Amino acid sequence: MTDQSLTGLTLVDALAGLRARNFSARELTEAHLAAIADANPHLNAFVHVTADKAIAAADVSDGRLARGSEEEVRALEGAPLGIKDLFCTEGVPATACSKILGNFTPPYESGVTEKLFAAGAIHLGKLNMDEFAMGSSNETSAFGPVTSPWRRNGSNAPMVPGGSSGGSAAAVAAELCLAATATDTGGSIRQPAAFTGTVGIKPTYGRCSRWGIVAFASSLDQAGPITRTVADSALMLRVMAGHDPRDSTSLAVETPNFEAACHASLKGLTVGVPKEYRVDGMPKAIEDLWERGIAWLRDAGAKIRTVSLPHTKYALPCYYIVAPAEASSNLARFDGMRYGARVEGRDLTDTYEKSRGAGFGAEVQRRILIGTYVLSAGYYDAFYLRAQRVRRRISDDFTHVFREVDCLLTPTCPSATFELGGKSVDPIEMYLNDVFTVTANLAGLPAISVPAALDANGLPLGLQIIGRALDEESCFTAAAAIEKAAAFNAKPGSWFRGPRS
Ligand code: GLN
Repeated sequence: MTDQSLTGLTLVDALAGLRARNFSARELTEAHLAAIADANPHLNAFVHVTADKAIAAADVSDGRLARGSEEEVRALEGAPLGIKDLFCTEGVPATACSKILGNFTPPYESGVTEKLFAAGAIHLGKLNMDEFAMGSSNETSAFGPVTSPWRRNGSNAPMVPGGSSGGSAAAVAAELCLAATATDTGGSIRQPAAFTGTVGIKPTYGRCSRWGIVAFASSLDQAGPITRTVADSALMLRVMAGHDPRDSTSLAVETPNFEAACHASLKGLTVGVPKEYRVDGMPKAIEDLWERGIAWLRDAGAKIRTVSLPHTKYALPCYYIVAPAEASSNLARFDGMRYGARVEGRDLTDTYEKSRGAGFGAEVQRRILIGTYVLSAGYYDAFYLRAQRVRRRISDDFTHVFREVDCLLTPTCPSATFELGGKSVDPIEMYLNDVFTVTANLAGLPAISVPAALDANGLPLGLQIIGRALDEESCFTAAAAIEKAAAFNAKPGSWFRGPRS
């Protein structure tokens, strides 16, 4: 078998191949490490590769696979994964791709990665991301931008992978890992998934533990997987989910069998189409794809209904108050005193100011300034409190429509990927890319993006399914139907596989 025939496998097929002893965990891991070595100089998807750790874990997996008993072979035995740099990983640097964390190496493992590694997953390394997960293009990382493996037809212009989980999406799309962890505060799993032709699910708030994930906006942050198929997504989420007493917002609920939901029938499922998601200036290709998505779900047996979410237009301004407010509070702990970067000043205040001025990048500083402003005396009521009220209205809109429909179908994003540098000059233009994704975070709902087509430039487009709280299963059922009908099997080409020209 050539290397690419190993790295190109789906997670589900790779696990089956390992169990059948068609190849070893070591071969699979080495194939991925070789793919990373080739591609990373082009893509910059990994910021830290844990090759020795990966090989050692692969050997352990091979031992378990050789013994082969039910207890020995765990759910993800021998599966090489990439981990977003926002997750604390014991003994491996976790920097949130910010200078302020320096080379911080956590002495503990995050709740989610702990579950993945306990299930036999192999840690290939840490994935690039927007600094503190703030961004939609992965251009704000202290380690430099990630380049998407996708290019426009007939062009070599570098494109963004989306953000903030751009490293995760690029690595999965470029076949540098079988699957990756990601996080989503306003769209950071789903938007990069849509931009790279991969599958990304943000589960219900509280489904996955936030313990050991560097906090951005604590009431919005959720972890989830980026994968190449819906079935892989279901398997990854099943392992990542589950109650964690160390996170007070983690839900003490059973994790359903998400894989079974991928095979469930759509008969009896009513899918809502929210009319407010038709925004001005949306490319026709996205409108058309949405229509095709409706037809696919109808053909698969679902009932379709037009619904209204009247407060949608306030979601983006609401998000860009709530998220920076929480961020300004969460990021107050990074002061150069206990760990990370420190710039000595004249006195304590000067040291704080110099450390934070040098350690945080421009976008993070912008968020801290916005957040501090909307929380300050005199502005708190006008901005923060009002945004909280709007958030409730947005959430109530969903409660109303979910009395009539089981899930909602929308485009994931109002555009396909754009060129590196194309939007980074205007923060508002960048923020507008989150228009369809932030609503699910504000309401705490599960939402999945599934690749559905290429646009006229040969760039991937995604459709989004939003479900009721704790009903990821309907998301998986509808997403699997779209995946089947769309038969999306486009790959990003192979320009990043050779030596750097
Ligand atoms: N793009 C959004 C932001 O910049 C969402 C980021 C995220 O989900 N982490 O805030």
